[in-house]
Amino acid sequence: MTLEGLDELYREVVLDHYRHPQNHGTIENPSIVAEGSNPFCGDEVALYLKLDDGRVAGVAFIGRGCSISQASASMMTQVIKGKSLEEVQALFTAFRGMMHGEGIPGGQNLGDLEALEGVRKYPIRIKCALLAWTTLQDGLESHRADSTTP
Ligand code: ZN
Repeated sequence: MTLEGLDELYREVVLDHYRHPQNHGTIENPSIVAEGSNPFCGDEVALYLKLDDGRVAGVAFIGRGCSISQASASMMTQVIKGKSLEEVQALFTAFRGMMHGEGIPGGQNLGDLEALEGVRKYPIRIKCALLAWTTLQDGLESHRADSTTP
């Protein structure tokens, strides 16, 4: 794994999340379980979400893979905790925009995720950074589908 392209400060933030992931593990009776993988890199992530009244009351993840995929998952759990599903959606749009070089829309605070911006210089790594988010998106979509089924 190469993190050379990242500024030193950002590299430290990424490695710190990788070594000491936040919200690592599983949660009991999750509302949503979603699993994703990135075959290009061998990254895997499983997300556990507890929803309460349209908010993310609890979130945890387990996974394995490169430092970017795992650090991104850790950072994501930090920013989405306590947020409404609309806010989560806005954060996802902001993060994806940042990773595609479109900048972060005003008013969005991506927290430590902003340390991953340099990753976009390596297109193959963008998938690593987005894995946790696309997995979350899949989980939310199937949850929505379930709850609209009579
Ligand atoms: Zn990766």
